[in-house]
This record gives sequence, C-alpha cells and structure tokens, in this order.
Amino acid sequence: MPAKEMKTTCPYCGVGCGLKLNTDINEQGEFLPVSGDETHPANFGSLCVKGSSLSQTLVSDGRLLNPYVDGKQTDWHTAVDEVAERIKAIVEKHGPDAFAFYLSGQILTEDYYVANKLAKGFIGTANVDTNSRLCMASAVVGYKRAFGSDTVPCSYEDLETCDLLIMVGSNAAWTHPVLYQRIVAAKKLRPWMKVVVIDPRKTATCDIADLHLAITPGSDAAIFSYLLVASADTKHLDTAYIDQFTNGFEGCIAQARKVTPDLNSTAEFCGVAPDDLELLVRFWCSTEKTVSFYSQGVNQSATGVDKSNAIINCHLATGRLGKEGMGPFSITGQPNAMGGREVGGLANQLAAHMDFATPGAIDLVKDFWQAPNMAKENGLKAVDLFKKMEEGKVKVVWIMSTNPMVSLPDTAQVQRALEACDLVIVSDIQVNTDTSKFADILLPATGWSEKDGTVTNSERRISRQRGILPAPGEARHDWQAICDVAKALGFVSGFSYRAPHEVFAEHAALSCFKNNGKRDFDIGHFSQINQQEYDALLPVQWPVPKGRPEGTKRVLADGRFYTPNKKANFISITPQKPIQQVNQTFPYLLNTGRIRDQWHTMTRTGKTDTLSRHIDQPYLAISPKDAQTLNLVEKQVVSVSNELGQLFLRVKISEDQKQGQVFAPIHWTAAYASNAVISALIEPVVDPLSGQPESKIGRVKIEAKTDLTYGFIIINQGLKTTEFEDKEMEYWCQIPLKKGKRYELAFSGQHNLAALACELLAKTSINAHQGQWLEYENPINQSKRYAYLIDDVVQAVFYFSPNCELVDTAWLVDLVESASKVTPQERSAILVGRLASIEDKGRLICSCFDVGEKQIRNAIKAGENDLVSLGKRLKCGTNCGSCIPEINACLSPNRRAVTSG
Ligand code: SF4
Repeated sequence: MPAKEMKTTCPYCGVGCGLKLNTDINEQGEFLPVSGDETHPANFGSLCVKGSSLSQTLVSDGRLLNPYVDGKQTDWHTAVDEVAERIKAIVEKHGPDAFAFYLSGQILTEDYYVANKLAKGFIGTANVDTNSRLCMASAVVGYKRAFGSDTVPCSYEDLETCDLLIMVGSNAAWTHPVLYQRIVAAKKLRPWMKVVVIDPRKTATCDIADLHLAITPGSDAAIFSYLLVASADTKHLDTAYIDQFTNGFEGCIAQARKVTPDLNSTAEFCGVAPDDLELLVRFWCSTEKTVSFYSQGVNQSATGVDKSNAIINCHLATGRLGKEGMGPFSITGQPNAMGGREVGGLANQLAAHMDFATPGAIDLVKDFWQAPNMAKENGLKAVDLFKKMEEGKVKVVWIMSTNPMVSLPDTAQVQRALEACDLVIVSDIQVNTDTSKFADILLPATGWSEKDGTVTNSERRISRQRGILPAPGEARHDWQAICDVAKALGFVSGFSYRAPHEVFAEHAALSCFKNNGKRDFDIGHFSQINQQEYDALLPVQWPVPKGRPEGTKRVLADGRFYTPNKKANFISITPQKPIQQVNQTFPYLLNTGRIRDQWHTMTRTGKTDTLSRHIDQPYLAISPKDAQTLNLVEKQVVSVSNELGQLFLRVKISEDQKQGQVFAPIHWTAAYASNAVISALIEPVVDPLSGQPESKIGRVKIEAKTDLTYGFIIINQGLKTTEFEDKEMEYWCQIPLKKGKRYELAFSGQHNLAALACELLAKTSINAHQGQWLEYENPINQSKRYAYLIDDVVQAVFYFSPNCELVDTAWLVDLVESASKVTPQERSAILVGRLASIEDKGRLICSCFDVGEKQIRNAIKAGENDLVSLGKRLKCGTNCGSCIPEINACLSPNRRAVTSG
C-alpha cells in the first residue's frame, strides 16, 4: 500500500464499510477518489456512491476553523475557560441536571466515552442523549426487554446464508446500499432464498422481493403477532427451546391470539390481501433459516419497542436465534450508533451496557471512574430534553456533531428551546448549520479523515476510523475538547488522556471490570492496548473478552441470556395504529425517509455535485390518483402543511405511493432550501419506553400553488440565499456544481425579471459592468432568459417561466463550468434554451457513470434488454450497484414483486 494511503471507515451509514483514503492530490488540487478496503469484512472492497464520493467532500468550503464566543472569534484557551466557567456557574446555581450533552452517532466511541464519563461521573447528571435516540432507541429497548441486554445477535453473513429474509421498515437498497448488494448477490447465488419486504411504500428494495406487503403505516406489529399465532397453530414452535430458554410464552401467545386471532382480521388491520399474508406465513413456517431485518420503519414509531418485541417473540418461539442464517437483526442508521450504545451514551443508560437500575452498577462505575459526582438515575431523552430546555430547567446544552434544528420533530419547539437556553455550545465542522445559529459558543471540530478513533457498525464490528489528514485551522478532536473542559472544571486526573488509544483502553477496561460473564459487552482484550496495537487494530466483532482476541461472530447461541434467571423474555404486545391519524383538515399521511445519495442533513454530502444529481431538490412523492384529485403536475411546487408549519416541495408523481399517503425525504435544511425541513411537520410524540419519536408519521394537507413564476440560475459562484429570502420567494433550493451553484426558484407576485437578474448578479463578485447581457423574452409563453458573459465566457444564466417544467440544464451547467469562450452556436442556444448537438440524458440514474434515464430507455429501445448488456453499453449499474433497482424499473416497468396492491 502506498505510504500516503491509509485504511479507515466510511462516516455515513451503519454498514460501516472499510475504505482506503489516499492523501495524494491530482493536478487540479483534488484528493484522489477513495476505494473500498477489500479486506474489511463489512464490504470486502465495495462502496456505494456516497462512500466512493467521500474525497470530493474534503473541501474547505464553510469549515469552522476557530472557536467563537458570543459571536467573536477567539482562541481555544479562552473558549475552554469560558465554557468551563459558564457551566460551573450554572451547575452551582441550578444543580447538575441544568447541564446536558446532545451527541451524535457520527462521533467516535472515544468522544462518546469521555462525554458520558464527564456528565454522569463528574458533573453528576445523566442528561447525555444523542441523535441515535431518533434512530434505534426502540430497538435497544426491545433487545433489553427480551434478552436482558442490548445484544444484536446476528452478523452480516447471516443475511447471505438465510433462506428467508424479512425486511421490515427498511429501504436498504438506498439506506444501506452495500449490505443490500450483498443480499442481492447472495440471492443470485442461492435462488431459493426468499425475500419479503414489509413497507407501506414500494421502494427500490422491493426490486428483489418475492413478496411485498404494502401494509398500512404502523401496522407491522400485527404481522408478527399473527406469525406467532400461525406458528403455534401449524405446530412450528420450537417447544424445547421455549421450555429451556425462555420466560412468559403462555401469556404472550394468549395475547397474540386475542389481538390477532386469525388471518383475515389481521390482513384487514394491516391493509394487505389475505393471500399475501398467507404466503408470508407459508414462507415463515417452512423456512428455518430466517432473518428479520428491521430499521427505522419499525423504530420511529410510538410503539417501536413493541414492534421490536413482536419480531423477537417470533424468533424465540421458533428457536431461530444465535445460529447461522437466523435472528432478529436491527440495523443501525449511523456509523457509530452502536459505539454510543456501548459506552452508555444515552440518557437511560449508565455505562458499558449497565443501566442505573442494574444492581450494583452505579457503585461499580463510580469505583472504576473514581467519580466524585455520580448521577443516580436516568436523564432526559432527546424530546424531553428540549422540552425541559424550553421550560428553563435545562440551562446549558453542549451539542456535538448534530443538527437538532433539522432532525428533531417539531423544529419550531426546538428553536424555542435553544432560544430559551442560557448557554448553547455547538461543536461542529461547519460554520453555518441550522443549529449553529443559536450557539453562544462555537467550537471547531475535526471531521472524517481527521478524527482518530473507533466506530462500531450494525453487526457489532469495531473498526478504526483513522486520522489521516491534519486538522484544519484550530479544529480539535471532540474527545480533546471535552477533556480540556473537564480539566478546566477541576477534574484533571480523570481526563488526562494523551491519545485516543488511552480512552479506548479505559473503555475496554470498564467493559470487563467485575464483569465475569455478567454483561454481554466485554472487550477486555483491549484493556491494555498501546498506540502501536491501536493503530494496527483490525475490524473485530464484540464481545472480545480477554483470551478471545478473534471476537465473536454470533452471540446468544447457547441460550444463555442476561435476565435475572438467564432466560429470554417473551413480551406480550398489542398492535396499535400510529398516534397521528389523518382527519378532514389534514387528509394525507406523511411518511419520511432517506434518499439514495444524500446523508442526514447534508453538511457533508451537500458539498458534492456527484451526490446532488440523482435527486437534486426536496420533493413530495404522491400517487397519480391523488395528484389528479389535487390537480397537480410533476415538478410543481406545492404547499405541504399542518398545525406545526408549512413547507414548499416539488411534486413527484409516483406509482409506488399508495393513495392517501405521501412521502418526503429528510435531508434538506434551511442552508439548502427555503422551506423543506420535514421534521417541522412531525409531532413530537414518542414511544413511552424508548423515547424515540414517531418520525415516520405526519398528517398534512397539500395545496397547489398557482400563478408561480419558476426559474433557475446557474452561476460560477455562490449567491447569498438571504437574497431569495429578502425577496420572499416561496421556494428556493441550492444545488452544488463542480464549479459554482445552481439555484431553483419559484415565487409569486410580479417581479421585473430582468431587473431581478441584474440585482442578483450585482450581489456577487462578478464584475457587473465589464460584461454583456444576452436577453430573450417570449411574450407568448412568457419565458424569459438572460445570460451574462464577460469576454464571451458565460458567468451566469437566469431562466424564468410560468411553466414548472423548464429546459434541461445539464448542458448549461457544462457551459458555465467550462469557463471557455462560447461559440456562436452556443450563444444562440442559450437564448433558444436548447443545444441541438447535446443529448438530453434525462433524470440521472447512475451517479457513478453519469447515466440518465433517457439514455437507458434509448438503449433499451435499441435492443439492450437486460442489465448486463446495458452495463456493457453505458456502464450503468456496473460499479456500486445502487442504481440497479431503477435500471430494472426501466427494463420492465410492470415488473413488480407480489404485492397486496
Ligand atoms: S454502504 Fe455506502 S454509506 Fe454505508 S458505509 Fe458503505 S460506503 Fe458508506
């Protein structure tokens, strides 16, 4: 391996792919593309387009490089003193529970560990919560109720060796692409393997489904409750396993019979065809090697914990657990959600998989940490934390590497909370996030490629995320910032680590401290790890107790659990519909989720044009019938609103949406679009056990916006988006280009569009006097086009029309990005709106090779009638594979999994 290349892990999803980052730069001064690490067991060299575009995000654009106190730039020494003094004053006056950390599944285990230790052992509060609360908190509680521990029993390998894979509430094709591609490959090799998708929407994941149950949103628990009944009725229970290794079966099956007594009533409750449910029962009863794979669709619910347990109940009842190709497998969304769970970085955990209620745990951790101020009980979970902040009970919050103004439900309430909070400290890599606006103290953090530590993926695999590039400006690692503040608070001896391996070693030592097999999380093998060993650490699945350095592929295989009597618990559940229901005023059920090429709130992925081309704007997916009822057309901007707020989104008419249900992605923030923060429309209702919000469900009304002027600007530099806000434009969206930006606009009212173009140009650094304007105005269709050139080089183009379907922009983008003199043909094309020699590729499908839908359809018309021949001709689908479901949809538009309609 070249000296400048190092192995690290991807900072995005919970698959936790290994990759290689080369610090060499090319002639354009850009980092070389990253490549997959062939030796990493999560991905064996594969990467999705998000991972493979990582080097493009290594740009200084918008980085926070210095600490700021009350808006003034300062040095770290001053910032640390200010943070410590202000925390001390507040805690002395109002008590330790006036303090809170709000962390993130993006930070590393070492960062998490010291934050948890400082709050719970030294300040004396358990107010340590994280955005992982929004992601998998219900899965954690589900495992703990059943197993007595937060133990994910499976490995990725089980997804390849099972004969039946039930994917519930997961669009893994887009959210966990490399894992999904592993499943695709396994199914190809083992054609008898059945895949069932349970999801209200027909998503890209359904591309490989033998059966798709398009359930009524939130009704998943009933499916599994009935599977339990059917397993009993058809004598497919593993009674020996139930007798020997479990508690509470009789009560659980009695409850299941009561709430889901038969196939027809269950099918009706779930909104699926009885035949489809019967087919699932047949698959389930005839297939021993079954994995249930679940994610946010299960977790982000007011009854997410019960749903988890409904799934686990079925596996316990059939003894399908801890063996090859079997188990209930919750997949985490974030790269280090699991690492946070390990250290106890949630308000209802203590540390190292111990809870406050675990007998003797508080004293054990106190002894180990030599802690002066141990917290004694659970702290505030995310939604409650921000409520208490608004009430003035929490007076200082340190937000690290997350953007609650975008991700928490009811963002208007989050804003009120941040405004009410006496001291808001924000550690981030970016200066401008929707949350950083509210910071009293801003601390510059290191980001991926600079941070150095460990992360744990969905299959309990601990991997190194290595610091390869130097920290820019004054950016500092989060663990260091926390330790500096801890020392300034007077806790010197507990926080004098010299390097992250010392933190990791202490974390490992706590995991095995007085453990003796009592706790599942034990990585005692690493309790003496030194720098050299840490640097060389290979990916390994915990537990890794002393004497077992190879780690553990599968756990709970021996039927020994972590409950008081060492048996697993069946949990009786009652399936319930979501708390939020549609009504006459708000008749559409809103579903939320991720798209293929963006990550969370876009602070990193929003920087690269590659990832913005697949889906470039916030949208609302709606069924053709609903679109017809509302008189909506594709790409039109509509108002989507409820009691909490109003958004403006582009219409996307989709056959995959059921009538009465709409879908919107979660990614766009106020930094990227005018009114597109989906959480603003989500009620802060939570699961009472896990505190996880019901983020998958909202209810809205949809109103067409008429008489809008649509437009776009392509410009060789950025504009201040406040210009659009000042002009009260209902809709704007910023899209990155290789060089410059594209802005999509929609606004009502009368504007002098030529003057508007001049005015916007004058706000840039482009010389507005030296160049020449090209103008075209068509009084018949009212379209207007303006371009500004200096020495025949296009600086900016402005197109406006009452029609939301504007011209293809790709060739205009090329023209602006090339910065070369235009030909006479191009000059007139700018005004006509079309360059004859350029092929319109259509909507981008393959991000890796820049292949559009029209190109694929043309190639199909020309006779390329399968994936392989399309790949040979256009290369589409031949790299990461994330686009294959969309290529397949072009190949056979009527191709569908069996669905309940
Ligand atoms: S699947 Fe993609 S986003 Fe997820 S870890 Fe792998 S490369 Fe990163």
